[in-house]
Amino acid sequence: MSVGLLAVLLLVGAGPTVGEDRAGGGLKRFEFQETHMGSAFRLLIYCNDEELASGAARAAFARIALLDATLSDYKPDSELMRLSDRAGGDPVPVSPELFEVLARSRELSGRTDGAFDVTINPVVKLWRRARRNRELPSRSQLDEALSRVGWRDLELDAQARTVRLARPGMRLDVGGIAKGYASDAALAELRGAGITRALVAGAGDIVVGDPPPGRPGWRVGIASADAEAGERRMLCLRNQAVSTSGDAERFVEIEGVRYSHIVDPRTGLGLTGRSSVTVVAPDGTTSDSLATAISVLGPDRGLALAEDTEGAEALIVAIEPGQNQYEIRRTPGFDRWLTGPAEGDEPVPSLGPPES
Ligand code: AMP
Ligand code: MG
Repeated sequence: MSVGLLAVLLLVGAGPTVGEDRAGGGLKRFEFQETHMGSAFRLLIYCNDEELASGAARAAFARIALLDATLSDYKPDSELMRLSDRAGGDPVPVSPELFEVLARSRELSGRTDGAFDVTINPVVKLWRRARRNRELPSRSQLDEALSRVGWRDLELDAQARTVRLARPGMRLDVGGIAKGYASDAALAELRGAGITRALVAGAGDIVVGDPPPGRPGWRVGIASADAEAGERRMLCLRNQAVSTSGDAERFVEIEGVRYSHIVDPRTGLGLTGRSSVTVVAPDGTTSDSLATAISVLGPDRGLALAEDTEGAEALIVAIEPGQNQYEIRRTPGFDRWLTGPAEGDEPVPSLGPPES
């Protein structure tokens, strides 16, 4: 596995880990970081009380850790894994969190004709092995895995709050939505503790609340697929989320072809066109899942999906295979969130690539 550029840079103004903000009436800036879900999660908080900030941060990380224990497809005893173990059996009662993630996922599957599909785990597993061994899965392996994939056989009963994986051998993987969901939950935890000026970043998924004091929004830098060519875009966001998906972090290159960790459920193949998709949305669950879905759908259907989603905007930067040109496509409203560089901006290298 090669590790390419980082998908997201956070630019949140100069300042030490804890700093006084002159415009902020004594509000201090606190920063916390812990690793969960195989990724560094970072919290930035403006508040005037250090104890309140660190207590709230502890609660936010605890919430993320709990969601990791619920949603992980690596931990054999996670709720998601235990549910997968019962595929082909009866409906299984699940926690509200797992139900919500699966309900949101299934809804997006319906809207994308299955381009986004959290039952993709059998295929994703083959590609994880391919990354380790640098050897492509065979067509028959892929077909066998695909025979156990299908969002329509993910049966949800909202009344009973049960889930049934109708076919034996089906398995779940919520890697395309879980970090956004966990970031939303962490921000909700901070708000519950009375902290409104906060940012939560889980690798390529960033959720922001009210802006830093005296600023119109949080300045977030996105490093798209053309970042190597020096292109840097800055967003100014408040009470919103942004996610970037792409092959920058996790891919395998075999015989000159680069396969992404995002898989097309129609073929079972890792995506090969190099691209990055950045989505701004009202919340992280939406931005995270849409960014993955649009990566699979490609520009035409992907942008239509974003336009069809309340409060969502998307930017796609694609490199045509064999060419050195970037194709840049965006929804008409995306530029509304762009902003220029500011005095004192200091790129904070984000958040290493997730383990996989
Ligand atoms: P992200 O980094 O948010 O784009 O999510 C990528 C992750 O989503 C992969 O590592 C897989 O765990 C999962 N995934 C891959 N392909 C799909 C797909 N077609 N639909 C839903 N999830 C997927
Ligand atoms: Mg995603």
